[in-house]
Amino acid sequence: MKDEKNYYYCEECGLAYEDKAMAEKCQEYCSKFHACSIDITKHAVHLD
Ligand SMILES: [Zn+2]
Repeated sequence: MKDEKNYYYCEECGLAYEDKAMAEKCQEYCSKFHACSIDITKHAVHLD
């Protein structure tokens, strides 16, 4: 079993981030442009 970490989620696209600031950035971008920025999503945590 994996450790359960507390991730921050973008409520718009559902991606998880370890960094709250990145999650907020993503959500701001997603809600504004209705698309994700690759510069932001590259920081996302990839969950299985
Ligand atoms: Zn997002």
